[in-house]
Amino acid sequence: MKRIACRVLLAVALMVGVVPSRSVAQSQTNLHLALGAPSGERQFASRYRAARTFHKANQYLIQRPQYAVMYSLSLGTPAWVSWHLGFADLGSVPRGDFATDTSLPSGFYRVRPEDYTNSGYDRGHMIPSGDRTATVADNDATFLMTNILPQAPDNNQGVWADLEIYCRELVRAGNELYIVSGGRGTIGTLAAGRINIPAYTWKVIVVLPAGDRDLARIDVNTRVIAVDIPNTNGIRDVPWRTYRASVDQVEAVTGLDFLARVSQSVQSIVEARIDDR
Ligand code: MN
Ligand code: MN
Repeated sequence: MKRIACRVLLAVALMVGVVPSRSVAQSQTNLHLALGAPSGERQFASRYRAARTFHKANQYLIQRPQYAVMYSLSLGTPAWVSWHLGFADLGSVPRGDFATDTSLPSGFYRVRPEDYTNSGYDRGHMIPSGDRTATVADNDATFLMTNILPQAPDNNQGVWADLEIYCRELVRAGNELYIVSGGRGTIGTLAAGRINIPAYTWKVIVVLPAGDRDLARIDVNTRVIAVDIPNTNGIRDVPWRTYRASVDQVEAVTGLDFLARVSQSVQSIVEARIDDR
């Protein structure tokens, strides 16, 4: 009886679109967490297969065809955004417009683009607009405020943007990337305390030659770039390489586990190394 009730509920959920049916977009959606969700992989695994979003400890996992975001309701920003970047993502669609993410459940504050106006902070994309230029829908998804956190202009437009450009150069040179980024710490708030201003912005980038079966190809020789960059002005022209760290260091300061689906023996080697190319 219980099982039948569950099936009826699932059927209704599928009809109203709460649970996505299997589709090309859905298989693409899972690509962005192919190396593992950055925190609590075991805890989340069964649930994120079942539902597009869920509520856990004030955080929502939102999986879109374009990226996955763990959105923090208490910070008013993503805790992290995770995405795959391949050659097919790079096109010529122009930049869209920032938009409130109306997919957040009612009863929780939905950050508006205007919340950043005159704050001195940029609406800083985690997955950049430039990484999703194949279609208008792909680009628009990057402008949802659940992908945005307050970035000091010199961070966002300088050192951070330089690393974003370098990533796309790696892709045009024949690589595909798995990227996770977010902010950590606090140096203040916007919108009457609703939006945290992080003290640092960090990023972890796994570089693979374009190919198939990506998880299985990651080994001790795989290039992994990690950075931890102060969210301040005055660093616009500092090379991004100045802020390289090991993944272990970023894991220590964020409390997240990256590359969770990669074997522990490989993680222990590639995560201890600081990129030197
Ligand atoms: Mn930016
Ligand atoms: Mn790890």
